[in-house]
Amino acid sequence: MADLLLLGQEETRKTIDKANIYCPFCRQHQICKEKELGLYVSFFFVPIKRAAVFTKYFKCQTCRKRFPAYGPDWENLEQRVAMEFLMLTCMVRVRMANGAFRKEPEGVAVGQQFLIFAHTVVGEADVVERAIYMKKVTGADKGLEEDLIPMVIEKLSIEQREHILRSMAAVTLSEGKVNDREARVFEEAGRIFGLEEKIVAKYVKKKKKKR
Ligand SMILES: [Zn+2]
Repeated sequence: MADLLLLGQEETRKTIDKANIYCPFCRQHQICKEKELGLYVSFFFVPIKRAAVFTKYFKCQTCRKRFPAYGPDWENLEQRVAMEFLMLTCMVRVRMANGAFRKEPEGVAVGQQFLIFAHTVVGEADVVERAIYMKKVTGADKGLEEDLIPMVIEKLSIEQREHILRSMAAVTLSEGKVNDREARVFEEAGRIFGLEEKIVAKYVKKKKKKR
């Protein structure tokens, strides 16, 4: 029994490789670390055996920024792919604002709206992986700033960027209205997208607080 108490599970990040990869922030090939975030069986809090891999990502050794390994071909990025990448990122971020992102059902809900707005099918497992990456890797501190890669945004027109706000509104908790936490995601996305405040305000119709 005593042995069992010493065994536990630890969430661990490991560098699994180092390679010359195209960094979408530097817009050129750089030495990047390939990293893996997973769950390890631990003994005395020391990870000893991998139990699951949550997500893989790269960390550029020049600009220190991180980007997901599931990302598109950054170097030859098509506009349609850029749109899909940013839209899904923003939809998941606004959904996550409520701490409501709970595995498959959320993945299905976001996937259904993604189909309507992007006309592309996305599997719930892909949605969940995106959420895990943003929750555990880029996290709340850097948040959207690191997830919304400038090179990707530049592929889109102002109208397309506003369309992303529209898609975000479709996955907020109460239709047509956003709460304070969701509003912050809209405002941050709007600022990073370079959209005028009055455009962003259209989507941030705050709920009146009940007293
Ligand atoms: Zn870089």
